[in-house]
Amino acid sequence: MTVPERASGARRQQPQGSQVDSARLGSPLTQPARPALVVRTCVGCLQRDAQTHLIRVVACDGTLVVDHQGSQPGRGAYLHNDSKCWDLAVRRKPWARALKVPGPLADTHLWESLDEVSHPKGERP
Ligand SMILES: [Zn+2]
Repeated sequence: MTVPERASGARRQQPQGSQVDSARLGSPLTQPARPALVVRTCVGCLQRDAQTHLIRVVACDGTLVVDHQGSQPGRGAYLHNDSKCWDLAVRRKPWARALKVPGPLADTHLWESLDEVSHPKGERP
């Protein structure tokens, strides 16, 4: 299957995210024909899921960072927004292999970012 190079650029322009789901509930007749859904494997639980359901992690100068916008260059690793998956990733340390970079990778910033992701403002225990 060949995909025109243009397609990958055009796809990024579509607004995607959790807001889309609630907006769609109001108009059941609107069934947008989704082009090929991008599926990635979570490096924690190793389940495949839509890329939009996963958090992208990239290596930047030997440090793992969460790519919130999905705009960082290079290879990305994907994780569910679920502490169980992050916990598995901590033990499995899949980063160097998933990102195809020589390890080790510092994950300090990653956990700071994860904290923001999984505990939005006001939800801290
Ligand atoms: Zn997962």
